[in-house]
Amino acid sequence: MTEPKNAAPAAGRVVLVVEDEAAIRDLIAFHLSREGFTVLEAEDGLSAVATWQRERPDLVLLDLMLPEMDGLAVCRAIRRQAMTPILMLTAKGEEADRVSGLDLGADDYMVKPFSPRELVARVRALLRRTAPDDELLRMGQLVMDRPAQRVTVSGQAVTLTLTEFSLLRCLLEHPGRVLSRRFLLQEVWGYDFFGDSRTVDVHIHHLREKLGDGAALVIETVRGAGYRLVGEEP
Ligand code: CA
Repeated sequence: MTEPKNAAPAAGRVVLVVEDEAAIRDLIAFHLSREGFTVLEAEDGLSAVATWQRERPDLVLLDLMLPEMDGLAVCRAIRRQAMTPILMLTAKGEEADRVSGLDLGADDYMVKPFSPRELVARVRALLRRTAPDDELLRMGQLVMDRPAQRVTVSGQAVTLTLTEFSLLRCLLEHPGRVLSRRFLLQEVWGYDFFGDSRTVDVHIHHLREKLGDGAALVIETVRGAGYRLVGEEP
């Protein structure tokens, strides 16, 4: 099965399946494994929390009606410590528990019986939704999409040269830190020792002009030291 575009990759992602009914647990594990997920299983609430503590999976599929410790208590135990995405599995007629689960911080739920295909799609969607947004850098009104090499200020595209883009990226990757001209030359231009530091100054000047006041950030000149990017408080 080919992954839809933008699907969260399954390879290496670990899903903990918490379900006391072996037949359902096996079915879920089978379908997730086939899609490339690594599956851990727990058949009661206590072992679910223990496994979660030990393995720190990327996502938890959590049945509500469980022996030892019910799904709501498991959800609460996990949320006390982490934001691991939780997808609840509930039976028809458990509406009240479903609401409690969402209140306790579960991210989504599915009502049994469900199609394995939909379950896998929901797992992927939840992983995608909760993935850290590490391709985008943001400060003030500015957003940089690194893979696409695009910069917007308040949603408006800003046209930058490749060098300006690299320079801005370097500043955004080290917010609030003073970066020396030499450091910037090495990072952006790749010079080892002999760059002309005025090259940096000229490009910083261009960047400031292109970004304008609307970006709500400032590239500060730190005398004798270099440059520092700081955001303005909204
Ligand atoms: Ca159950």
